[in-house]
Parts: sequence; structure tokens; C-alpha cells
Amino acid sequence: MSMKTVPAIVALLASLAAPATADDRAVVFPDTPDGHVVLAADLHTHSVFSDGAVWPSIRVEEAHRDGLSVLAVTEHLEYQPHKADIPNPDRNRSYGVAIESLVSKKYTGLLIINGAEVTRDQPYGHINAVFVDDANALLKSDPREAIEAAHEQGAFVFVNHPDWLPQRPDGVARLSDYQQKLIADGLLQGIEVANGTMDGLSEHALQIALDNNLTVLGNSDIHGLVDWTHDAGHDGRRPMTLVLAANRSEAAFRTALFEGRTVAWYHDQLMGREDNVQAVVRACLSLVPGPFDGKTTVLPVTIKNVCPLDFTLRNTGKQTFQNANDTIGVERKGETRVHVRMSKTTESIALSFDVLNTQIGYRKTLPIRLTAGVPAMLAASKK
Ligand SMILES: [Zn+2]
Ligand SMILES: [Zn+2]
Repeated sequence: MSMKTVPAIVALLASLAAPATADDRAVVFPDTPDGHVVLAADLHTHSVFSDGAVWPSIRVEEAHRDGLSVLAVTEHLEYQPHKADIPNPDRNRSYGVAIESLVSKKYTGLLIINGAEVTRDQPYGHINAVFVDDANALLKSDPREAIEAAHEQGAFVFVNHPDWLPQRPDGVARLSDYQQKLIADGLLQGIEVANGTMDGLSEHALQIALDNNLTVLGNSDIHGLVDWTHDAGHDGRRPMTLVLAANRSEAAFRTALFEGRTVAWYHDQLMGREDNVQAVVRACLSLVPGPFDGKTTVLPVTIKNVCPLDFTLRNTGKQTFQNANDTIGVERKGETRVHVRMSKTTESIALSFDVLNTQIGYRKTLPIRLTAGVPAMLAASKK
């Protein structure tokens, strides 16, 4: 990448703005109740500069359409099947093309970061480094030296698809001794719990993340087109990582990533540390009770979902619903009304649920308690 592109990049980072589009495809999450912005990121993508099928400008276009805040360009360093056509002597070139495309399209609110995938057999596995300054420096025969070179550049390093069947035939994610040593030496900060090319998620990887204080990631690992692979723009969505940052700057994004303030989003599943998943769910769901009708103690309550994913809730509270069983769905950007059998009229309501489309540990869903004040009865109903 030529150095003259740098000022343009810095200018764009300063304005990691929320995508100002009403297009349903572009991901928009409200801020969390504790004041974090939710930045959507895909930290694992390929183009023709490794084994992908598209030019990097297509990745930029897709990321813009999906409303991503951050896109990482992470070509395989060692696996270069298009080398006869694209000799690729500079492993930063894919990133450079993506930046040129971003600048020419004048997209704002999208940060593109450089990265690489260190691609080895087990016990090394596939490891991504993002926030890399010079991917060429990671071209080493010893994979450990590649990771050390990334670390020297201040990169964020994570294990990719630890349950990938060609390397883990039983589908169970495990860390190798080599990877555990990287963690012990402070060289590895994250792990993918969901990966779009594998088309899967891993409860085992989530537990590994929790046990080792690793940042939880969901990424597309896209090789073809996002639209064809994930039905994007229709009902589908690429897997991504929701990063809970203090603000929309690159520095805040980076800090949140290193501090593990992330949730992996795969189809309608949210996976991560309990506090992070809870923050996202609380940003999405709220209760809007109606008044009591003045004749009964059954309270109408609307459960509102302002987020772009469907929720499935199981009622774990002591009140049951007049119009539904204990398992209810709340569609994306939709609402579901339940009629709650209260034993008496009250000034507030609390509903407790297990959020079934979440995981906060190995086969463990998030419990949540939602509360709201009940509006006073309508004067006309007071009889
Ligand atoms: Zn890989
Ligand atoms: Zn990959």
C-alpha cells in the first residue's frame, strides 16, 4: 500500500458514523443501556488475493451494504491458489485495493483494517491477526514467529474456526498446546465461536473463550459473495461481531476488542460473556404495558424488539400468559403482545425470561428480567 493513502484513512476513521440508511439490510443496533455504541464488524474475509472469488472492492461494497463499521481484510498468507494470475508479492495489496475502493466510493462510517490469516495444519491451526501494519512481516517459516511479528505491530490475534472439521473431525473445538502457550505468552487475544464458511457455531469455543479470557468473535470468513452465501438483503445475514465500544472511534473499537466487549452474532444467535450479551439484549427488548382494563387482573404487555434479529423467549416468571404458552417469539424490529395473568393490579410489571437464542456459556442461555411501569387506568374504564 502506498503511504499517501494514510491521511485519507485517518480522516475516515474519525467519522465511524452510524450508517444513515433506512435500508433494512444495513445493521443498526441502538446504544446499550450502559452507554456503549454497538459497532458491527467482520474480522475475517478473503478475496482473490488468497482463495476468495472476488476483487477486494466487492468486499467493500458488501460491507457498506451490510452497515458494517469495521471490515478486516485477512488473506491467507501461505495459501495462494491464484498466484499464477495474481503473483501478489506485497501481502498488503489486497488491503490497499480495498482502501482505494473505499476512498473512491466516498463511503463514510466504514473502517477497513489490514490483517492476515496465518494458515497452518494443527497444532498451529489458522490464526488471524488484524490491525496489522505490514502483513509481509508475518511471512515466516515458523508460525510462532509470524504471530510474534503481528504482536510487535500491536495486532489483535485470534484463533479461527477451532471446530473446523478438516482439523477437528469430531467437531469439538479445542486449543492445542501451541495455542495455549500463545495465550500464556500474551500473544493471542480472541477466538471465533461462529464462522460463516464453516456455517456453524461452537459452544465449546465459547466456553474456551470464557475459561481463557479471550474475546468472543463471529465472522463470515467469506470467500464467495455475501449475498449468495448468506442470502444478504433478503432474510439472511453474514455472521459478525458486535463490538460494544465507548464511542465510534477506531481507538474505542480497538480497546473494546482487546477488553473482550463483544458478542458474536450468527443467524439469530447471540453468543458471548453474560454481561455483553445482556447489554445487547437490553438494548433490543423492552416492555410496554397497557393499563389494566379495570375489570380483570390480566395485563396486556407489548414486548418490543428494535433490533435486526428475531428473539425467542421462554417465560420463567410465576405469571402465565392468557394468550400464549411460555415460549414466545419476538420478530426483528417487531413486537409481540402477551396478556399476563397478574393476581392483582400493580403499578409495575416484571417479566423473567430465558433468552433462548443466546449462549453465555456451554449450552447456557441468558436469563433476563424486564421491568416497566404500568400506566394508570383509563378514566373511562374506572368503574
Ligand atoms: Zn481458515
Ligand atoms: Zn479464512
